[in-house]
Amino acid sequence: MFAVVKTERKPGAEIKAVNVPKVGKKEVLVEVKACSICGTDVHIWEWNEWARNRIEKIPFIFGHEFAGKVVEVGEDVTTISVGDMVSAETHIVDGTCYQCRTDRMHVCKNMKILGVDTDGAFAQYVAIPERNAWKNDPNLDPAIASIQEPLGNAVQTVLPKDHVEDITGKTVAVLGCGPIGLMAIAVLQTLGAAKVFATAGGYNLTRMELAKRLGADMVLSAREHGEKIVKIILEATDGNGVDVVLEMSGAPSALRQAFEILTPGGRVSLLGIFNRSVEFDFNNAIIFKAATVYGISGRRMFQTWYQVKGLLSKHGFREKIASIITHKIPIRDVAKGMKLIQTKQAGKIVMLPEWV
Ligand SMILES: [Zn+2]
Ligand SMILES: [Zn+2]
Repeated sequence: MFAVVKTERKPGAEIKAVNVPKVGKKEVLVEVKACSICGTDVHIWEWNEWARNRIEKIPFIFGHEFAGKVVEVGEDVTTISVGDMVSAETHIVDGTCYQCRTDRMHVCKNMKILGVDTDGAFAQYVAIPERNAWKNDPNLDPAIASIQEPLGNAVQTVLPKDHVEDITGKTVAVLGCGPIGLMAIAVLQTLGAAKVFATAGGYNLTRMELAKRLGADMVLSAREHGEKIVKIILEATDGNGVDVVLEMSGAPSALRQAFEILTPGGRVSLLGIFNRSVEFDFNNAIIFKAATVYGISGRRMFQTWYQVKGLLSKHGFREKIASIITHKIPIRDVAKGMKLIQTKQAGKIVMLPEWV
């Protein structure tokens, strides 16, 4: 089969012919119908510091967001059949550690990540554990089905504890309009947030435009409005600040703003990853403000997936998510896709299995 393979510890990757993976007893083999590029894939492509430290095994196939058709199942597989359309939860867990046995499987102590620690989905076929296979509605467009993993991140950031009443009728700010921030705006709109503020880094016109179309009431540019963002949002909320902040950018300035625009007693979900440790005023930001803070890692297994499924069953929501996919390209153009993301010209990029 063909696959996008990281063959050397340097930037780029190669499309080459490799063996189809062998399925283990509790694994399924999936023929990939669509896959999408995640920030993690860009890091691996660029071979940045994170990738250099994190990736152990070379050569390996990367990519983890996908949808496809099951073509083979291992002999002990009982819940998935040949012909099923599936996507994958990318956190591969042991199911036996303290976290797994106490309803926190998504932060399993012995977790491996598909396409980071194991061979991934930028390939014609990918083998995944039965437990990680998520059965899709067979009529769901594979392009949309392929982005359920980041959509799950968005849903978990919005609803870390299932409390829809935190959102319905409330004011919410989304800091950062990358694909997951955009997805969060669509989720907030669907759940009935009263007012959604969004901020985008720099002059990212494509993403600001998308944020508006997805239902953000006010979209601010970090570069244009800078420190004024706090004042603008406080004024627009009668001086109260917002009930909920979703930090999706990983920018230290946004982290500070997140707590400055938060109403006392409000909630912040942190998803954006910071490049380095940041200095932060805990006293005023969290303690005296009686703020609730959630760290978001992955998706709850598998509550978040059921929420994603429920949301995607609504036509209007599906349309919104589809609009975040700004490009569908043949996978042989993977280099072009990486470039579009690096230059922030894209929302989500889906690659189709056209190899030659
Ligand atoms: Zn991802
Ligand atoms: Zn575990």
